[in-house]
Amino acid sequence: LIAFLLYLFYLVAPIGQLVEGAVQFQNGLAALKRIREVEDLPGEPSGATGASDGTPVGVRFDDVVFQYGEDRERVHHGVTFDVPPGGLTALVGPSGAGKSTVFALLERFYEHQSGTITVDGRDIRDWPLADLRAALGYVEQDAPVLAGTLRENLLFAAPDATEEDLTRAVRRTRLDDLVARLPEGLDTAVGHRGVLLSGGERQRVAIARALLRRPRLLLLDEATSQLDAVNELRLREVIAEVAAETTVLVIAHRLSTVTGADRIVVMEAGQVRAVGSHDDLVGADELYRELAATQFLVA
Ligand code: ATP
Repeated sequence: LIAFLLYLFYLVAPIGQLVEGAVQFQNGLAALKRIREVEDLPGEPSGATGASDGTPVGVRFDDVVFQYGEDRERVHHGVTFDVPPGGLTALVGPSGAGKSTVFALLERFYEHQSGTITVDGRDIRDWPLADLRAALGYVEQDAPVLAGTLRENLLFAAPDATEEDLTRAVRRTRLDDLVARLPEGLDTAVGHRGVLLSGGERQRVAIARALLRRPRLLLLDEATSQLDAVNELRLREVIAEVAAETTVLVIAHRLSTVTGADRIVVMEAGQVRAVGSHDDLVGADELYRELAATQFLVA
């Protein structure tokens, strides 16, 4: 119960600090997801701390079968893949292949029907939910920027972070240039009532926000929007730098991300059809070759 109350506090407390008493999400969906997280929280096994030490974890999906409801079609038909601790793993595949569902199951927004999902060698059903979610950092595709200052945006989920943590997260996500350009630095209002950030900047803000919670596994749903060359390069650098310290699993839409990945998992119609490096897959997998040629933005 205490962990639940702390979790609730951590979600709700910073809201009060934000502008005009109300959080203005640019994307209301994120708020709804958070509310659903709280509603869904089952009883916590004792010993849950809801804290994360940031050490990288591995993930394993073993013959995972999943459908969103009894009356729905199966989405995962025995999904199996391994993500070793540390490094960058990219999930690719056509729309509807089941990539986002991998993230939803890892976060335990839904329960899989059979098979096993482990994080750090432990079945996710045996993890206290607060600890599991503290271990995961999730950066969604169109990451929302809250009304308020850049500092408030970054500290939203980590109100106890120190100034040093903040500086480091800004540096690691290559946001220093942005901060230097803003009239009041980190204390500049952003979002639709302040300085508008580009899609690339918004995603890096979301990555910095996630990093401040010291995740052991960063789940990144890469934005599909076109980035200019500078933002593309920065995102690539940031992903590589984060992957040097933690485990990063990215739903990749960019060729520059997959070519930089340590391993790529190719999904199709709810199954994994190939795993390998970019060079391996270009040689060995027809679907990957097609995706690389047509779907990804050409580097
Ligand atoms: P995309 O690249 O388009 O996001 P994806 O590979 O991530 O595709 P998923 O989003 O995992 O695929 O979707 C797989 C299937 O599950 C699709 O048929 C989709 O319609 C369905 N699906 C996804 N989310 C839900 C949900 N919340 N409820 C019901 N069905 C869903």
